[in-house]
Amino acid sequence: MVTKTFICDVCKKSVGESELFPVTINVSIPGQTYHKAVTVNKDICRDCLEKKGIITKLPENQQELQQNQAANQKSLENKITDFLVDLGVVFEN
Ligand SMILES: [Zn+2]
Repeated sequence: MVTKTFICDVCKKSVGESELFPVTINVSIPGQTYHKAVTVNKDICRDCLEKKGIITKLPENQQELQQNQAANQKSLENKITDFLVDLGVVFEN
């Protein structure tokens, strides 16, 4: 028997497959044609995303979908540094 475990990269909790969301962060480096972007892929659980204000529940209609997308865009822009810190990135002044 094969058992898969799904672990959040932030809180390290084991969660169900549907409770883990893939998160991708891209960094584009201007002026470089080769290796233009650096990409980091992590899996973050619903609880950790909700704590950052990201709405993860499925919308019931098109209007709610658009509202959630706009709210999530704003939350992600406001919390991008928090996400990186949670994932172990150290910012030095
Ligand atoms: Zn988590």
